Amino acid sequence: MPLGEFELIDRFFRSCGAARGDVRLSVGDDAALIDCPAGRDLVAAIDTLVEGVHFPAGSPAASIGHRALAVNLSDMAAMGAEPAWALLALTLPRADECWLAEFSRGLDALARSFGVAIVGGDTTSGPLTASLQILGTVERGTALTRAGGSAGDVLFVSGTPGDAAAGLGIEQARLSVADAEAARELAERFLFPAPRVALGRRLRGLASACIDVSDGLLGDAGKLARASGCGAELHYDQLPVSRALTLAVGDERARELALTGGDDYELLFSVPAGRVDALLAALPPEEWRYARIGVLRSEPGAVVVRGGSVIDFSHRGFDHFH
Ligand code: ADP
Ligand code: MG
Repeated sequence: MPLGEFELIDRFFRSCGAARGDVRLSVGDDAALIDCPAGRDLVAAIDTLVEGVHFPAGSPAASIGHRALAVNLSDMAAMGAEPAWALLALTLPRADECWLAEFSRGLDALARSFGVAIVGGDTTSGPLTASLQILGTVERGTALTRAGGSAGDVLFVSGTPGDAAAGLGIEQARLSVADAEAARELAERFLFPAPRVALGRRLRGLASACIDVSDGLLGDAGKLARASGCGAELHYDQLPVSRALTLAVGDERARELALTGGDDYELLFSVPAGRVDALLAALPPEEWRYARIGVLRSEPGAVVVRGGSVIDFSHRGFDHFH
């Protein structure tokens, strides 16, 4: 017997995510009711994952559930905000119970680990699409934005960008990696990204600007720089590349992927030179996993500098593995 819409919502989404005392009415009514904390700004973001566009057809359902929330948590992280509530608009070609159980398991696990309640959503029939809206809060007036940087500020990035793009290549069988452990590690970085919410929160008062890296480090550095009214210079030799990525594609291509690959969900942030010591003391880089990679400068545009000269990436194609 096919699963009805009511039963589907009841079984897989009614008790999805964390239980929060500030949710007065959750899944089941026409809308959710939330107790908004006084003295804080509400922070809202939405991101949509479409099968065949944002994840390959046949991706594990648990990964799709995880990523639907993770990409939004990453936007909260970039704002220095505390994620709290989410709504899920799910479009399904059919109501497959096994698929739904895995999808909601992936979503539930990540939501619980970040204290996020799933307070509502919408379920429709059509091509597989998961659109999730997240709501969070931040102490009034303290959110990080892309726009606060100035020429001379030092640029840092968290984690090891490029891994997820290689992981996607592995998932799509466009990249084959002899080292099974490295391949597994890279695939995991695409399938189950770990949004840097704790880091983002701690960067308030330290960073001048912040963006999450979802479309490639170089392009996203350009976005942060443009919003801040300056340009960005990234230092090729300082790019943090993982051992797994270097093993998989070699050092040159690892750095190229670190600059141009997508789906990393790391944080790129600028810190005024006079505050760098305070940053390094408050958040030890080995513990918080971030590295210095460049500076903001007055000339517009984002460039990569290697051995004192600018290197050109414009000739590289969109497809990293062919
Ligand atoms: P309405 O027709 O009033 O929009 P629905 O039948 O679409 O109501 O949804 C019933 C309840 O279930 C609502 O509270 C809605 O927020 C929730 N809901 C529907 N789909 C989902 C979903 N995929 N995840 C979480 N909550 C959902
Ligand atoms: Mg509805």
